[in-house]
Amino acid sequence: LGRFALQIVKAAPSRTRTLSVNSPSNRSDRRTPRRVDRRIGSLTVLESYRSEHLDRLGALGELATAHLPDPLELLRSTLRATRASVAEIVMYDGRSSRWSTDPLANISRHADLRPGIVQLPLSCNGELLGELFLAPHADSAVDLAAATAASHLVALAMGAARLSTQLAAELDDHEHDATHDTLTGLANRVAFEQAVDAALTRVSASMATAQPHAAALVVFDLNRFKEINASFGHSVGDTVVAEVAQRLVRSLRVDCAAARIGGDSFAVLFSDVVDLEDAQTHALRLLRAVSGPVDAGEATIHIDAAMGMAVAPFHGVTRSILVRHADVAMYVAKEAPESTLEVWDPAHERVTTDQLELVVDLREAIELGELDVHYQPKTDANSGEVTGAEALVRWRHPTRGSVPPDELVPLAEHTGLIHDLTWFVLHTALPQCAQWHREGHAMSVSVNLPARSLRDIDLPEDIDNALQAAGLPGEWLTLEITESEFTTDSEVSRSVVERIKALGVRLSIDDFGTGYSALAYLARLDVDELKIDKSFVIDLADNPANLAIVRAVIEVADSFGLETVAEGVEDERSLEHLRQLGCTTVQGFLVSRPLPADVLFEWLRRRGVSGATAQA
Ligand code: C2E
Ligand code: CA
Ligand code: CA
Repeated sequence: LGRFALQIVKAAPSRTRTLSVNSPSNRSDRRTPRRVDRRIGSLTVLESYRSEHLDRLGALGELATAHLPDPLELLRSTLRATRASVAEIVMYDGRSSRWSTDPLANISRHADLRPGIVQLPLSCNGELLGELFLAPHADSAVDLAAATAASHLVALAMGAARLSTQLAAELDDHEHDATHDTLTGLANRVAFEQAVDAALTRVSASMATAQPHAAALVVFDLNRFKEINASFGHSVGDTVVAEVAQRLVRSLRVDCAAARIGGDSFAVLFSDVVDLEDAQTHALRLLRAVSGPVDAGEATIHIDAAMGMAVAPFHGVTRSILVRHADVAMYVAKEAPESTLEVWDPAHERVTTDQLELVVDLREAIELGELDVHYQPKTDANSGEVTGAEALVRWRHPTRGSVPPDELVPLAEHTGLIHDLTWFVLHTALPQCAQWHREGHAMSVSVNLPARSLRDIDLPEDIDNALQAAGLPGEWLTLEITESEFTTDSEVSRSVVERIKALGVRLSIDDFGTGYSALAYLARLDVDELKIDKSFVIDLADNPANLAIVRAVIEVADSFGLETVAEGVEDERSLEHLRQLGCTTVQGFLVSRPLPADVLFEWLRRRGVSGATAQA
């Protein structure tokens, strides 16, 4: 029988595992007792046995684990119950259907090999996992009923073993997923935090030694990633993120940990650096490595990263402090349009903790599109006709209530979020304007632009894309830029202005009168409109000095062919003055406060009706 068992093993060399046990009471197999004995308690695994599927399928080894029946014990009791001399399990991948479920038929198949051998299928949940061989003593037959029952038990145990193997494998996968990011294969936040903690413990311990060392935490995210996603689609966005992750991995030394901690944000830990300078060298090398063009199939996308760094023990020795400082430094780095590394500096703390929390929320609100845009109508000073509306951002914070734009906008400007904010407003206001047109209101829309965006060479193209997406010709968009910050001192900003103008878009100088610009200079820049600051307009009727200023501004603007918009018109008397001075357009509470889009529609409708009535 020992030989026979070996034959079975050899018969299906790449698909079977064999476990056999020999009856302790077996006296008739004396010829090969050693061979059989050696196989008792051991799992026979063939060298050629490579099937991965089989590896996961009911590996009998797993059966022997503490919480499952011991397979040998199972076989031994099978021997006892069935009065067989030898029991053997052959496992295979379950695809075979050689075996009949009728044990008698199987017995007859093997009658020529060895009379009385019982061969039973081992199936669990309808899947054939293997077979059970039972050899009779020379003098007696195997108990068939007991054999069938035993085969069920064995199959059940095998199924359980397979299940446990599968579960273990799935658990492994889950554990990997829980600590790794699926897109990049980098560690995720949880795993990374553990690495940071470990490094900080080592840094602290080294401080008392002759060779103290430092650890640097670097965080960075990609500039303008949202636009990449929006203009090229998320799969291109994913390609970019994956490519950045690859560059990152390629550029890192072994003693570094790297993680993706958000959509396009990454963190790197240099766990063993000499000092600040050393840390900076590493970070700069990393910055160079991740920046630069990415070939994303249909487009080549230029990647810039804003990188912030905080180094333990100099900038903190706890994870939370270090992370916060690196974050703050990154926000400062974001103010630059191109790849920049900022090392944390106490001066950065002008961004207070409170603001930082707000920034985190703002970032999320922008991402989730939770900001709102309200529209304040602009009317022709003489006819009262609504000629346009200014888009003004609104943010209702879930716990703090509404955050005024005067707080929100500077915060966004200081933290690099202004770009995303502008983009959100543009992509909300332009489709809105297109809808006004569809509903018969020929109105333009004004969008506030931070001055530094004029240094963004991609701005004209962004605007063009937004216009096209909304199906709106450029002349319906006016960009308002605050006078005090309006500069076209560089080649870049001059060309940006030119390209914006080439789209037909109008330019307005906002808060005019607060920035001491030479009008002639502004006129050369192809500006279309001056928006007289509300501080001069609000008390126009009662303040002769302001009246004089406004008169002068309108006169000069006229002579350069610029339109004038007075903002902050709160009463009839001021409006009357403005009319007489020849101001083109007015905007202010007198006409309307900024309104949500749907309320504005209602307002326009009612005004249209009353306007018609007035004319009639
Ligand atoms: P701004 O561009 O000068 O916008 C006009 C501001 O004056 C608005 O304040 C508006 O509500 C207010 N206003 C309008 N009419 C009157 C009036 O008759 N009397 C008075 N006292 N105020 C009036 P808001 O909405 O609080 O915005 C404040 C500033 O925040 C804006 O000043 C602008 O600089 C900035 N801002 C608002 N939305 C955005 C935006 O989407 N992007 C950017 N970059 N800045 C924005
Ligand atoms: Ca404005
Ligand atoms: Ca203004």
